[in-house]
Order: sequence, then C-alpha cells, then structure tokens
Amino acid sequence: MLQTQGLNKRFGGLHVTNNVDLTLQAGEVHCLIGPNGAGKSTLFRLILGEHLPSSGTILFGGEDITSLKPFQRIRRGMSVKFQVPGIFKALSVRQNLEIAMQHHYDPAVLGEEIDKLLAFLNLTADATRLAGNLSHGQKQWLEIGMAISLKPRLLLLDEPTAGMSPEETHATGEMVKRLNAQGMTVLAVEHDMAFVRQVAQQVTVLHLGKVFAQGSIDEIVANEDVAAIYLGQTTAH
Ligand code: ATP
Ligand code: MG
Repeated sequence: MLQTQGLNKRFGGLHVTNNVDLTLQAGEVHCLIGPNGAGKSTLFRLILGEHLPSSGTILFGGEDITSLKPFQRIRRGMSVKFQVPGIFKALSVRQNLEIAMQHHYDPAVLGEEIDKLLAFLNLTADATRLAGNLSHGQKQWLEIGMAISLKPRLLLLDEPTAGMSPEETHATGEMVKRLNAQGMTVLAVEHDMAFVRQVAQQVTVLHLGKVFAQGSIDEIVANEDVAAIYLGQTTAH
C-alpha cells in the first residue's frame, strides 16, 4: 500500500535519506529501527509530505503522491503521530479529541465516537482532566488517539513508547495489534525491541540514511551486522 522508490533527501551536504526503497503491504505492522540520526524521522516527514524528497517517488495505494501536500495525503488515509508532542495541554482529554474529530463526524454520533476512542485508549476515567496533567504514557496514548481519530488506513508512529514503563509499552503494543486486527496498516519507529517483537511482522533497519537490513524480528536479531551498528549507541538494546 506504501512504496518509496529511490528516496533521497539532502540537507545541504548531508545525505540524510539515501536511495530508500521501502514497501509496506496492506495490513502489516512494520517497524523501522536504527541508531540515532539514521534518518527515521526524516523518512516519516517525507512520507507525510512535510519534506519533499531531493529525488525519488512515493506511491500510496498505487497513486504517485510524491508532490502532494500533507493534507492531501491525510485525506487519502494517512496519519502520523510525531516524535514531538502535539496535544493541547490546557484543554481536557475529551476537548483534544473533539478538536481532532468535530468536523469529521455527525454531531449526533460525535460523543459516542469519542467515548469509544477514550475506552480504547484506557482514558475513560481521565476524560475531563487537562491533557497537561496526564502521565507521560497517557499523553502518548492521547496523541495516538488524535492520530487514529479519523480512522486512517496507514498509521505512522514515531517512537510511540518513548519514556514509557514496560507495562505502558506493552499496553501500547496491544493497542497497535487491535488497530491492525481492524485492518490498519502501521509503520512504527521504535527503539524498544520487546515492543518490536510484540507487534512487528516485518522490520527494516535504517543506518546512515540507507536500508541496512530487512526481515522478520528473528532474522534481524540474529543479524550480527545489525548488532554491530548499535555498538556505542545510547539507545542500543
Ligand atoms: P533519532 O533516533 O535520534 O530520532 P532519526 O533516525 O529520527 O534519529 P533524523 O531525525 O531523521 O534521525 O535525522 C537524521 C539526520 O538528519 C541527523 O543527522 C539530523 O541532524 C539531520 N536532519 C534532520 N532534519 C534536518 C533538517 N531539517 N535540516 C538539517 N539536518 C537535518
Ligand atoms: Mg527520530
């Protein structure tokens, strides 16, 4: 459903994304791993259209979307939870979801849709709390909620479990699996290998802007060349 072909992005002399060919099959959970600075977030911005590639092509559902604006890609069913927080801290949890959803649902069903989403996110009891007062993990769930509120076909998650406890990380993995069981295709940047093992059907390793390895989690864990690129990295697992 998503294909990048020979995707290059240069910032001045820095070649951040180097000929990236990445294919996502519809219905899969695909994890993107790699050391800090590998180009993972940049690849997400290219896929959403926040950066335009220096060269290369992006296909989404067979359509060439390379020059489309982010809102046009969102309309076609793409959604992203970025690494940088994007919730309104001074508004309640429910109000945050209302802002994301109000123009897209009939007022008669909006309340019910928000209730369903709150339950999915384990945030029902926190609906009236200010988003800024949530725990770190709950904030991340609210962000996932904003990203899935319009029921995208493709969900991109940039480090969804960063800073979470093992229990919160596991609960997030269960959320991703339930979304996937409902038919959502997911691409997640992730450092936590327990999470990758929990959710991923396919893993791509990015290193210095290039696709370094690809395969199942077992193949990637057994790959000594992959282990070697993590040596000396603070985020190694
Ligand atoms: P992390 O695991 O730390 O989140 P990452 O794999 O997401 O890393 P990117 O954020 O994509 O890596 O950055 C890749 C490289 O591109 C880094 O060297 C970064 O400094 C550089 N870079 C990213 N965005 C820009 C920009 N707008 N202008 C110049 N250089 C940039
Ligand atoms: Mg990043």
